[in-house]
Amino acid sequence: MSYERIVVLGGGTAGWMTAVALATGLQGTTVELVESEDIGTVGVGEATFPSIRNYHQIVGIQEADFLRATQGTYKLGIRFCDWRVRGEDYYHTFGDFGELDGPHSLWGQYRRHVNAGLPKFGEQCLPTVMAMQDRFCAPGQGAASFNYAYHFDANLYARFLRDIAIKRGVRRTEGKVVDVTRRADGGVASLRLDDGRVVAGDLFIDCSGFVSLLLGRTLEEPFLDYSRWLPVDRAWAVPCARTGTALTPYTRATALESGWAWRIPLQDRTGNGHVFSSRFIDEDKAREQLLQQLDGEALAEPRLLRFTTGRRERFWVHNVVGIGLATGFLEPLESTSIYLIQAGLGNLMPLLVPRTRVAPEAIEAYNHGLTRQFERIRDFILLHYCLTARRDTPFWNAMAHVELPETLAYKLHAWRQTGVLHQYDVEGFDGHSWLAIYAGMHCWPERADPRLSDLPLATSLDWVRTRASQLAEAVAPLASHDAYLARILGH
Ligand code: FAD
Repeated sequence: MSYERIVVLGGGTAGWMTAVALATGLQGTTVELVESEDIGTVGVGEATFPSIRNYHQIVGIQEADFLRATQGTYKLGIRFCDWRVRGEDYYHTFGDFGELDGPHSLWGQYRRHVNAGLPKFGEQCLPTVMAMQDRFCAPGQGAASFNYAYHFDANLYARFLRDIAIKRGVRRTEGKVVDVTRRADGGVASLRLDDGRVVAGDLFIDCSGFVSLLLGRTLEEPFLDYSRWLPVDRAWAVPCARTGTALTPYTRATALESGWAWRIPLQDRTGNGHVFSSRFIDEDKAREQLLQQLDGEALAEPRLLRFTTGRRERFWVHNVVGIGLATGFLEPLESTSIYLIQAGLGNLMPLLVPRTRVAPEAIEAYNHGLTRQFERIRDFILLHYCLTARRDTPFWNAMAHVELPETLAYKLHAWRQTGVLHQYDVEGFDGHSWLAIYAGMHCWPERADPRLSDLPLATSLDWVRTRASQLAEAVAPLASHDAYLARILGH
């Protein structure tokens, strides 16, 4: 089957990202997007992963235009507060820690000087030092390689993408899908809207959000529940006024009694949310805890979102490809949902060559690749919880004793026993990211690479100290995040 006419169902972040990618990469193919304003979108999803910069580059979006349209700010990473124990924090920023293994690994040398009064290991990363001082610059202007992402208003982002998609030829149809007609082979033939119109297509991209109208409800693709590992299942979200404090170039994730709270700085306001497990706390108490967290006055009534962590067994079935929440959700701790939208699009686009049949093997490989992505990200998110030393509430006690998926157990074992940052073939997060969490959660190997001692103690101490002072020197002249952003926006 080749695809001449593609229908995208849903106009949230997933739907419009898909529509822009299709309109840009598949000129000549008819693309129609159906959305219902009555149903609306999730409308949260304000923090991202650096891969969004690649997406913008591929579809030709300029950073300044995007930031202006979406109240966007820069994100160097995430600051985790109270995750290991109350009163302690650490950062996971998108930067490097020098060599990861072998006799010159920074962490290995660092571990030889525990009593030398060095700054925390996790701070030996350029964007972390920048984040701690609320400064920002784009890579290439500083001392070491790093990457960055953004925070933005999800509703404004969907609108921004919608304008681009329509300019590039995507047809937008407003209406609620009330019925789905099937083909003889089990695939989808057309969608019927509430006013009787029919939208037919060869390929349907299901971006209908949690309802998963085509992949889940119509094709009945099974949902694999991950809540035995990631038990959070609700979130309250509320924006609050920006206070006079500096604009932080990072998301803050603070561990609470039965979940955690996000704080996302935008130009005009701050996004906040409390992700929690209803097994451990009731909704009203969770709402109360969120409101107590706010830095400024709440700008709306908190909104409750309900979800189950997990994924569909397959992502492409017959002529339906799911993208976004229609395929699953892993909780927003590392801002990976939009990353997974992109991973889906990145794997899908090369297969959609006009007038060319997609082989079943390619569809199988597509499903296999995304399955691995979901599993790796699940493991990485779970790592943040399972290393906790907190036992002060039933939720944290349960998270400390959760039975790990085999893939994560193996990885942790390799690190603890041998100091190997084991990586699988498909990874959303590289060894530097894993190291940031290990360091932040004080999880170190029982023994280090014996070759580390090849470097004399004094030389290695000097080496480690030099790196710390180089990072401090590199960051000292940088502009504040506020000032840098104002310059990019032309204020
Ligand atoms: P939705 O936004 O739900 O859009 C679904 C679309 O389908 C809508 O347009 C709707 O109208 C349409 N639709 C549904 N049914 C029908 C119908 N019958 N007829 C016609 N149209 C229909 N992601 C991140 O990357 N970073 C984050 O920080 C982040 N935080 C999050 C926090 C929470 C609490 C939650 C729940 C999610 C978060 N996400 C985050 C995920 C992110 O919000 C989503 O991945 C992203 O918004 C994409 O959603 P979507 O487009 O798949 O679904």
